[in-house]
Amino acid sequence: MTRDEPLVLGIETSCDETGVGIVRGTTLLADAVASSVEEHARFGGVVPEVASRAHLEAMVPMLERACGDAQVRLSDLDAIAVTAGPGLVGALLVGVSAAKALGLALGKPVYGVNHLAAHVAVDQLEHGPLVEPTVALLVSGGHSSLLLVPDITDEVIPLGATLDDAAGEAFDKVARVLGLPFPGGPWIDREAQHGDAAFVDFPRGLTSPRDLDRHRYDFSFSGLKTAVADVVRAQGGRPAADEVRRIAAAFQRSVVSSLVRKSLSACGQTGVRRLTLGGGVAANGWLRAAMAEACVGAGVELFLPARSDCTDNAAMVGLAALPRLLRGEDDGGTLAARSTWPLGDPSREPGIPDSACFR
Ligand code: ADP
Ligand code: MG
Repeated sequence: MTRDEPLVLGIETSCDETGVGIVRGTTLLADAVASSVEEHARFGGVVPEVASRAHLEAMVPMLERACGDAQVRLSDLDAIAVTAGPGLVGALLVGVSAAKALGLALGKPVYGVNHLAAHVAVDQLEHGPLVEPTVALLVSGGHSSLLLVPDITDEVIPLGATLDDAAGEAFDKVARVLGLPFPGGPWIDREAQHGDAAFVDFPRGLTSPRDLDRHRYDFSFSGLKTAVADVVRAQGGRPAADEVRRIAAAFQRSVVSSLVRKSLSACGQTGVRRLTLGGGVAANGWLRAAMAEACVGAGVELFLPARSDCTDNAAMVGLAALPRLLRGEDDGGTLAARSTWPLGDPSREPGIPDSACFR
């Protein structure tokens, strides 16, 4: 392998998308994704067993597609990385089993990656190797946290997190109340561009002086969601198109305001003047613009991944393993799926009994 530019295959099966990505160093070569979202639609949510079966069926075709797009053979790979958690355990096991099989067959090292760390690591596609320490704002459909990151592979210190809904979850729930399709984030982003955010001042969770004392870096979005629902109900439950735009803009302003304020406060208090964004909500146009402006004002260097790299993908999994590969580590023998894996838990041990039979 080229010393600094290894060829790494990333596998992502934590939920309903089967992703296989290939990176050479921090350059993206391929990102193949198959989604089972339509198979879950009639149940109103992701059915774990259906997702696991879909991963099984899609794994080999996605491996072939990724290798074809990148114009590499499996034997060219230097390492295999896989999301080992957090996620649906049956779904994770399909990816973990595939990674272990590939590692064994090819005689290459295998790495278990934390999905949340991977969201932060994806910025490397845009800006090259992560500059650490950095403060990271991770805002996705399932998680919202502020992190201090001395080393994305080994030391991540949680500063705060949402006490209720994740930011993306709030976007999705509010979109549903407004009659917009799922996932709601991109729709609210679009509608809000044409709406007047000043028409209502929605609450900004945990930003009062009293709340800041106890929850300086925590978020709360459920009160905001209820406030939106109340406004929609007061309008008869079916807001007209221009009302949808105004509510979307005011809601988005409230979310963005607390995300920006708390991120900058974390940079100020920790003295770390770098901020990295990750997760699907980091694709939000208003958040990106507001964060960029605030960072310029505060003298903080902002690392924003490309919008298309913010949502789940498999390339980020390969990128997250890169430093460990360069250090010569290997999880091959001990790799197992973990349904829960809090960031900041450095252990890579299996920890859950139901994956034992696959080890
Ligand atoms: P997870 O890892 O939690 O499954 P992702 O990191 O893929 O999720 O992020 C998906 C979430 O991001 C969804 O809740 C979606 O609504 C939200 N999202 C995607 N694009 C945008 C956007 N432009 N603005 C706000 N939210 C967005
Ligand atoms: Mg994700």
